Amino acid sequence: MDYKNFIGGKWVEAISGKRFTKINPANKEEIIGTFPYSGKEDVDKAVESAKKAFGSWSKVPVPKRGEILGKVGDILSKRKKELAEIETREMGKVLKETEGDVQEGIDTAYYAFGEGRRFFGETVASELRNKVCLTFKRPIGVAGLIAPWNFPMAIPCWKVIPALLSGNTVVFKPSREAPFTSTKLVEILIEAGVPDNVINLIHGPGTVVGEAMCTHPDVGIISFTGSVETGRRISEIAGKGLKRVSLELGGKNGQIVLNDANLDLALEGVVWGAFGTTGQRCTATSRLILEKGIHDKFIDRVVDRAKKIKIGNGLDKSNEMGPLISEKQREKVHKYVEIGEKEGANLVIGGNFYTEGECNKGFFYEPTIFTNVSPRMRIAVEEIFGPVLSVFKVNDLDEAIDVINGTNYGLSSSIYTQDVNKALTAIDTIEAGITYVNGPTIGAECHLPFGGVKNTGNGHREGGWTVYDIFTEIQTVYIDYSGKLQRAQIDA
Ligand code: NAD
Repeated sequence: MDYKNFIGGKWVEAISGKRFTKINPANKEEIIGTFPYSGKEDVDKAVESAKKAFGSWSKVPVPKRGEILGKVGDILSKRKKELAEIETREMGKVLKETEGDVQEGIDTAYYAFGEGRRFFGETVASELRNKVCLTFKRPIGVAGLIAPWNFPMAIPCWKVIPALLSGNTVVFKPSREAPFTSTKLVEILIEAGVPDNVINLIHGPGTVVGEAMCTHPDVGIISFTGSVETGRRISEIAGKGLKRVSLELGGKNGQIVLNDANLDLALEGVVWGAFGTTGQRCTATSRLILEKGIHDKFIDRVVDRAKKIKIGNGLDKSNEMGPLISEKQREKVHKYVEIGEKEGANLVIGGNFYTEGECNKGFFYEPTIFTNVSPRMRIAVEEIFGPVLSVFKVNDLDEAIDVINGTNYGLSSSIYTQDVNKALTAIDTIEAGITYVNGPTIGAECHLPFGGVKNTGNGHREGGWTVYDIFTEIQTVYIDYSGKLQRAQIDA
């Protein structure tokens, strides 16, 4: 099937007529579809369309915009199963997870529906008599939204829905690894009543389409989720145009397990955190930091459990772990395994392509665990984005915190302990945007702020109420009803 861009209220080809093909990572013989390989000239059309619609869309009362987005939630709910299957075929993760991904879109839509009636500004006391001070949230203009592939429904919803509720119009570029789910989302936005020109979808290569969005003078804000490398580039080129730039980047998340922890709970947490989504989550647990008293016995249990993970096509409900997204990503993961071995870490299980039965048609990889990892090794600090867990043995909580803070990333973190003092010390000293106590590093809820410190981002938080700070400008208003000139700082 040949899919199209959505620009100016119509489904259209790229001006060049070029296309790219998207395949199923669990079975490279299965083609998901072909999509427009767009260029700068298509971005110009999409931005022109979004700019045209801004005046009218920004004047639609916020609760009315919220009602349209609530309908998006209704349609997503009705079609949850079908959409989850589409996602699993497109990017490989197992059905239970893609259903969760669609649910996150639903939750985000319903949250926006509620926020439409809570779009608060502030009222503030004036230093002068007979004067009122207040603020309004205003839309920015055309929002350029650039998404990765690993949460093909949730991440686009995290961006498109608050951008629209805030009154912006949108040019949305999905990843070339997840163009189909995004196409479905845009169909649903249209069905729910988002007017022509307000939402524009453009497929194509990031270095061309994404960069054209970031440098276009009529785009007011770029919201990007993806790798640090791309985030840096976007920050440079969009920063030149003084655009607002919100960056949600990679992670190298750690789970600490102390001697007093509930080990059954910690075990379930690390297996889910490290191998869920085949390790391809920005919040994946890629480091396990064990206090020495439980190190040996806990590792045996993790290895035993990881060996039993059922690998295969995510459409089969009995499978627990699907493929990596692409051959390129599988090569990258494998390269890191070789680096780990060369650096002297101890490869306990995994470290190979997984090719049993039908899996030889896709990009599957074994759950992989390294022990004896030291904090300066590359596998200890660099994001691998695959099912590879690096394990550290530490003497105490202080050393565990040094290890967990020893990377340039700071997205998610976790500690398992029954000691409230140790848990609170960890919360105080871990450098991360998100910390879980007695839970794995994954599992964000859409109504809470989401994002990280250090190289994981540039200070913004998606999710919850904080995402609306990304997509709005603040207008401060002073109303003087004293009937005379009152000078702040002078007459007060
Ligand atoms: P990526 O950086 O390769 O691509 C992300 C998007 O950027 C894609 O749509 C791509 O086409 C586009 N792009 C690529 N080059 C560009 C350029 N020069 N200018 C503009 N756009 C460009 O990332 P990916 O492989 O799709 O996703 C994996 C990465 O995303 C991992 O690092 C992961 O940790 C991160 N991620 C972060 C979060 C978060 O919220 N912090 C969530 C999910 C994924």
